[in-house]
Amino acid sequence: MLLEIRLFGDPVLREKCAPVEHIDDEIRQLIEDLQETMYDADGLGLAAPQVGVPIRMFVYDVRDPELQAGVLINPEIVEADGSIREEEGCLSLPGLTEIVERNESILVRGLDMEGEPVELRLEGLLSRCVQHENDHLDGILFLDRVSPLKRKLLLQKWQKGEN
Ligand code: ZN
Repeated sequence: MLLEIRLFGDPVLREKCAPVEHIDDEIRQLIEDLQETMYDADGLGLAAPQVGVPIRMFVYDVRDPELQAGVLINPEIVEADGSIREEEGCLSLPGLTEIVERNESILVRGLDMEGEPVELRLEGLLSRCVQHENDHLDGILFLDRVSPLKRKLLLQKWQKGEN
């Protein structure tokens, strides 16, 4: 089922999300719906708060056959190294992109949809994508990671697009 993607300005995008307590049918259905919604919107990742559910979970697929797609539940970035600046966008801020500084490589731990622990060492686009989605779980948007001047310009552009 396609879910409605919440846009910038919706308070749910600023919530500190709660951990997933039990991976039950409801959660599994939500994962399926998140994936369907992400592919429909042509996004590389989608976090649960972006569809109005403030829990710690996101799906991702950077559309590279060499890189795995998947879901991370209750993720934690336990190591982060290096820094790299690349362009980024967000399904909750359609039409806006900006250069964002992120860590180059990360080690992330979490659970898969069976509730099994997973540990992923990531770099490149997948590392960026997971850092972006993980930020959503703490109410952080890529806008918050650019300079105040760039943020102001982005917000002006956003408001123009909205009106
Ligand atoms: Zn986003």
